[in-house]
Amino acid sequence: MKKIALEEHFMLPGLVEYWRETAANINRELYERALAALSDFGERRLEVMNENGVEFVVLSLAGPGVQIERSAGTALRLAREANDSLAREVQKQPGRYGGFAHLPMQDPMAAADELERCMRDLGFQGAMINGHTNGAYLDDDRFSPFWERSSALSAPIYLHPGNPPDRPYMYSGHPELWGPMWSWGVETANHALRIVFSGVFDRYPKARVILGHMGEALPFQLWRIDSRWKISNRSRELNKQPSEYFRTNIAVTTSGVSSLEPLLCAVSALGEDNVMFSIDYPFEDSSVACEFINTAPIGEGLRAKLCHRNAESILRLPIK
Ligand code: MN
Repeated sequence: MKKIALEEHFMLPGLVEYWRETAANINRELYERALAALSDFGERRLEVMNENGVEFVVLSLAGPGVQIERSAGTALRLAREANDSLAREVQKQPGRYGGFAHLPMQDPMAAADELERCMRDLGFQGAMINGHTNGAYLDDDRFSPFWERSSALSAPIYLHPGNPPDRPYMYSGHPELWGPMWSWGVETANHALRIVFSGVFDRYPKARVILGHMGEALPFQLWRIDSRWKISNRSRELNKQPSEYFRTNIAVTTSGVSSLEPLLCAVSALGEDNVMFSIDYPFEDSSVACEFINTAPIGEGLRAKLCHRNAESILRLPIK
């Protein structure tokens, strides 16, 4: 079945230094292999797509990118260059590649302007944010201009994992827990909950966040979140039950999780229209992810939604 994938990464020569922050989380062998695959926009990437029936990928810079840059001016300049470079690659393969904007979140207004430029002038599908920016999470009031603009543009914001701003004691002595295997999911789920509980979706009802990795375990926890929120020490009220925002403002992808139980949980918790196929190229094996979604014991109508229809709708892609 035709597939669209949207957590598919690339790297540019000038931004490899920033990537070392997260590349340090993976072993040397995967690092070398990944860097070569990330840097290729041509034959190799297209060959893997063709072999696996992936028709269209939305490309994003492997994080954290300029979000760990201390200078807002440098972050803006490099983000613009990265987006222009990506746009050139997209133009070479317009039927196969789309793009998520890389944004200088140090300056929320500049990030909003760059998002608008990427959506309007470069034809991108939204943005990918790699976790916090120098310790600031997206629930911070300073990001109001960013949410306002992304809502106005109907730009989905893919919240991608990264390392937390500090190294919590709970990971001490366990380097395997640090990174994609565990701490990234904890960090990103927490970030998403900060956004939900800060009322961002009440203030910007059209804002849309995409979470990878089958929702970073959140679909499994929604009942408990609703239930225990009622007795928690709340800083503010919400217009809806917390879980409802997951059905109206949050969608998830299957990136990096080729497993039936979490897929069924995500579909059941968030609804058939809020789950989208993705791979997490090149960190995950495209053939494993594609075989999983091609053969999962689900109805063909649902498979079509997961493989391409939901992405076409949420990313407003032209339907062929
Ligand atoms: Mn990824």
